[in-house]
Amino acid sequence: MEKEPYDWIQPSLDTIRRADWYRSVQAIQSKSGAVVQLEGKEVVNFASNDYLGLAGDDRLIQAAISATQEYGTGSTGSRLLSGHREIHRELECAIASLKQTEDALVFSSGYLANLGAIAAIVGKRDFILSDTYNHSCLKNGAILSGATIIDYPHCNLEILQTLLSQQRHNFRRCLMITDSVFSMDGDLCPLPELVDLAEQFNCMLLIDEAHATGVLGATGAGCAEHFKIKNKFIQVGTLSKALGSLGGFVAGTKPLIDFLRNRAATWIYTTALSPADTAAALAAVNIIRHEPQRHQQLWRNINYLKQLFAQQLPNLELLPSESSILCFQLQDSKAALQVCTQLKDAGIFAPAVRPPTVPTSRIRLSVIATHQPTHIERLIAATKQIKA
Ligand SMILES: *Cc1c(COP(=O)(O)O)cnc(C)c1O
Repeated sequence: MEKEPYDWIQPSLDTIRRADWYRSVQAIQSKSGAVVQLEGKEVVNFASNDYLGLAGDDRLIQAAISATQEYGTGSTGSRLLSGHREIHRELECAIASLKQTEDALVFSSGYLANLGAIAAIVGKRDFILSDTYNHSCLKNGAILSGATIIDYPHCNLEILQTLLSQQRHNFRRCLMITDSVFSMDGDLCPLPELVDLAEQFNCMLLIDEAHATGVLGATGAGCAEHFKIKNKFIQVGTLSKALGSLGGFVAGTKPLIDFLRNRAATWIYTTALSPADTAAALAAVNIIRHEPQRHQQLWRNINYLKQLFAQQLPNLELLPSESSILCFQLQDSKAALQVCTQLKDAGIFAPAVRPPTVPTSRIRLSVIATHQPTHIERLIAATKQIKA
C-alpha cells in the first residue's frame, strides 16, 4: 500500500507522459480570429471552433458590453429562482426559429445540455444506442441516465438495426444518440436512415449539433436542414462554436422543452447563463440569419482547402468530411506531436489530436469563414515542408 493517499498521482502522470498522451494548455494572447498571437508567435489559426468568425465580431462584443451594463456580470441565480432575464427567452426563441423547432432551452454549456437532456428523458428501464465516435458528453449523459447502453460501430446502420430488432422490446423507451457532425473526424451521421429506424422501432433520436449549427444547411440551421428533414427529434447544440459565445441549448417540441424545464437537473440546479454570454449569442443568431455570406464564405474556404490538398498533397489524404473539420492521420501520437510542432514553427496553429480522444492520431484542421485564401495557401505550403 502507498504511504500517502495522494502518492498515486505523480506516477500516473508519468505514465501519461511516456505514452505521449500528456496535455497542457497554450495561451492565445490576442482577440480570436483567423490570425492569433500564440505564446508570443503570430500564427494562422486552424484550431478554432469559431466557424463564422463571430467571437471577435464587434457586434457581439458590443452586445455583451451593453447587457453587462444593463444587468451586471452575473445572473445571480438559477433560471427558476432569480436568474431569468428576458434576453434568455429572446435567445431561446431565436434559436428555435433558426432550428425550425417549436421551442428551445439554453443551458450553461453544450456539455451540460447533453447531460441534462439525456438523463431527464431516459432512466433505468430504458435503452440507449450510442455511436462509438460520440462526444464525451453524450457518453457521460448516457451513463448518468442509468439506462442500458449499447455502443454501435461508427455509423453502422446494419448493426444498429440488428440491435434494435433484438433488444428494443426488452425496454420501455429507447433513445438513439449521435453527433450529427462528428467532432474529431468531421463526417456526418446518416440522419435520414436514423430517422427511419427511430420511427420503425418507436425510438427517440437525439443529435448533437455542436459542429453543425451555423455550418450545415442552406442557412446554417444544421444537419436537419442539410438533409431537408423535418421531424420531432431532439437537437442539442452549443453557443460556443459558430455562435461565438458560451453556453448550450436543446431545441425540440414544446412538450419536450417544458419537460426539460421541470426535469433537467443540469438546467434547474445551476446558475443561468450570464447576461453577456446570452446577449452575444443572441447577436450571433441574428447575424447568421441576416448575413448568409459568412456561411457561404466558410464553404468556399472548406472547398478551397480540400481542392489544394488534393492537388498539392496527394500523399496526405484527408479523412472523409462534410463539414469544416478536416483531418489527416499520422502513424502515432509522437508523429502527430512532431508535425504539430513543425507546423507551429512555420506559423500554422493546427492541433494534434491523440488517444484517448480518438483511436488514431491526427492533425485536426478547422476552417473558419474569416480565413483568407492566403491563410489556406500558407497551411498547404507549411504542410508540404513537413519532414516525416
Ligand atoms: C464542443 C462540443 C460539445 C460541448 O459544447 P460546450 O458548449 O463547449 O460544452 C458537445 N458536443 C460536441 C460534439 C462538441 O464538439
